[in-house]
Amino acid sequence: MKQYVCSKNVFVDGKFVPASLEVEDGKITNILEYGFGENFGDKRIIPGLIDIHTHGGYGCEINDNDYDKAKVWMANLPSEATTSLLISPYTATVQQMQEGVALVDRLMKEDLDVTVLGSHLEGPFLSKDPKYIGAMREDCIVEPSVALYKEIVGDYDSVKLMTMACEKENAFELMDYLQSQNVIVSGGHTGLEYEQGLEALKHGLKGFTHTFNAMRGVHHREVGTAGCSLLFDDCYSEAICDGYHVSFPALRLIFKCKPKDKVVLITDALAIKGMPEGLYDLDGFAIEMRNGCAYLAGTDKLSGSTLSMIKCVKNVVEQCDVSVEDAVLAASTNPATYLGVENTKGRLAVGNDADMAVIDEDFNVLRTYHKGKVVYQK
Ligand SMILES: [Zn+2]
Repeated sequence: MKQYVCSKNVFVDGKFVPASLEVEDGKITNILEYGFGENFGDKRIIPGLIDIHTHGGYGCEINDNDYDKAKVWMANLPSEATTSLLISPYTATVQQMQEGVALVDRLMKEDLDVTVLGSHLEGPFLSKDPKYIGAMREDCIVEPSVALYKEIVGDYDSVKLMTMACEKENAFELMDYLQSQNVIVSGGHTGLEYEQGLEALKHGLKGFTHTFNAMRGVHHREVGTAGCSLLFDDCYSEAICDGYHVSFPALRLIFKCKPKDKVVLITDALAIKGMPEGLYDLDGFAIEMRNGCAYLAGTDKLSGSTLSMIKCVKNVVEQCDVSVEDAVLAASTNPATYLGVENTKGRLAVGNDADMAVIDEDFNVLRTYHKGKVVYQK
């Protein structure tokens, strides 16, 4: 059965325009003039948001390998306007990472209120340098190895994205293999220098993980990994948009440097998102949640966020002088294009899944649809 929704501000082809969307069997089947079906007035209708870097939320940490908790996490995401995601198992024992890949594969095959597009492995082939290691387990970081990668992934094909340190020995060999498997390589937790970055491009480097965080910073004689992220126009640049991991002026810098279709907003959220402030044990790390931020307990070292995707959008619009249009692109269309799923996700276009959210002027989520079904209502 066909259904229609309309608004004076529907996000089509990068602009807000008056339009009606015709939806049938979970897909957008037509874009018509304004005035058909349920009318949201001047409230914005945006594509469902896509988070390509998140470790957990609402009490679930992916590395805990708890299927029931993972379902609770997934069920809460539509309240943040998120309708698709990559789940990010992070550096841990080989067995834990295997379990993470298997759990993501299981979730991909289920009929949930969000689409699990696959996994984004954050490690274990990272830099051990204390400047770049972030909150990763040093004892589990290893040298790049095709054999070990195959051991972690097994027969599953859930891995779509891999964060790694491309300057390490044998990194290029692994990158060549990942390219052959259609796994995207993102430079992260890395001391990669500019010249090495140019070499890495030849081996398929396509993006940078949480720009400015856990990477070699910009120096005027060596622009470092952060400089590569800002300068390589063909690469996608992830950004954690809480204002803590990266200050708001630095986020502005990312938007100023990058083509507007290459910025990707991420949450890098942890299990304690959506939970009360206090002390938590995450995979053996004591994590303290205070002032809405996650720290290694007793320190000021940040260890992942408690962000939602819609908060990322709100922050860059309200704090970084970014247009709503560019912010929405960076949270929906750009990640879809990065992953090569733009013909099903991330855009309000004929033939795409009817994944969308209705938001007000303060970026409150009023309603979220996943494949045409209402999965959240305020
Ligand atoms: Zn992360």
